[in-house]
Amino acid sequence: MPSKPVKKKKAKAVKKSGSGKRAAPPSGPKSKTKRLSKNASRAEPVAVDFHPALRLKDFSESVIREQTRLAALHGAVNLAQGFPDFPCEPVLKELAAGAVAHDFNQYSVTWGMPALRAAIAKKAGAYNGITADPDRNVTVTCGATEAMICAFMSTLDPGKEVIFFQPFYENYHPDAYLCGAKPVYVTLREPDWSIDEKELARAFNRRTAAIVINTPHNPTGKVFTRAELEIIAKHCSRWGTLVFADEIYEHILYDGATHVSPASVPGLEDLTVTISSASKTYGITGWRVGWAIAPARITEGIRKVHDFMTVCAATPLQEAVRGALGLGPEFYRDLADHYRRRRDFLIGGLEAAGFPCHVPKGAYYVMADVSHLVKGSGRFRDDTELARYLVSEVKVAAVPGASFYRGGHDKTISGTHKLRFCFCKKEETLALALSRLGAFKGLNRK
Ligand code: GLN
Repeated sequence: MPSKPVKKKKAKAVKKSGSGKRAAPPSGPKSKTKRLSKNASRAEPVAVDFHPALRLKDFSESVIREQTRLAALHGAVNLAQGFPDFPCEPVLKELAAGAVAHDFNQYSVTWGMPALRAAIAKKAGAYNGITADPDRNVTVTCGATEAMICAFMSTLDPGKEVIFFQPFYENYHPDAYLCGAKPVYVTLREPDWSIDEKELARAFNRRTAAIVINTPHNPTGKVFTRAELEIIAKHCSRWGTLVFADEIYEHILYDGATHVSPASVPGLEDLTVTISSASKTYGITGWRVGWAIAPARITEGIRKVHDFMTVCAATPLQEAVRGALGLGPEFYRDLADHYRRRRDFLIGGLEAAGFPCHVPKGAYYVMADVSHLVKGSGRFRDDTELARYLVSEVKVAAVPGASFYRGGHDKTISGTHKLRFCFCKKEETLALALSRLGAFKGLNRK
């Protein structure tokens, strides 16, 4: 997790309570409790020299999910974590209920129900321009999050390097650290989040094992163009670098932007793991059904990690997602339109409240500039202090910008003067947040 370096804590030995009496064991059947106490009184407590595994030392809790917790604690409107607060389409509920009723209730084949893998492969051909064999190339996972970590764990050895475009979605960072791989950063340049080709070229070397491409991009809303992907492809082909393509927002596009899957770009077909999920497209982030499409030699490793990590994604929800993948084109048109209206509403309100915004071309987040509040004579030290104040006092949760950055070549780059707001919420939720931010602006003027 980028913004909060982890402080080292000394492991503490297990102590007796101050009174000298043992604490009561957790409640349970009486006879069992007695037996435990009796046993415990015979032996001295063992001093456990516990410390967390070293592979955890470089990251801590997710900042996005921390903001969700703080929002609940303070009764704030949650524009931090990207999940809808409105119901999913009734057809999805019917599909899920129908799957349970029809006894899709046991483990599925580890790498996904055959019918769902077939539906994913069909959709990959029709929408993404990717040829996939359901039996050799498709793995169903517990969300895109698991697909990504399986891709990392099954292909990266310690000491290898993985390139991230920053700002980046915070989950990728722990994925790299858990494999002992080293992140290398290439900065997307404002105002249009473009790539500096020289900086990109410098990031590649013989240790570069993978690059993460998230398009449409969280948190900026950038949609990578075919021309940009061709440049990346040139470097990946030269260095034999794998591409982990996170395409979870593939259907959420605005202003005529088109989605190009990296695996459809010449040179990247055999190097790319294409990751997506039902979470954002169908507004069902809690179902945890995602997938990875990859060449057979990579799929074998992904399946191996997935098999022992989670066995399989929830079977009835796999069956329901199979049905959802059959929805017609109007579903996807309405989806983008639904989010575009919310995007425009939120940006209009944020700008009126004094937060200039980057207009996203895809996904459902807005990066807002808060320089006037955090720089120079600003009231707050940085984005984190401001976000803490907003969630606890103004009752609006956003994500501090720094959690999407980690320096790189240019040490002046950071997100400490940005906040990310999401707009996958009911219009009344957005309106409430904006009225609170409007009042905050009023206070700020005094
Ligand atoms: N992708 C979402 C976000 O960026 C949700 C993150 C999560 O908690 N998995 O807010």
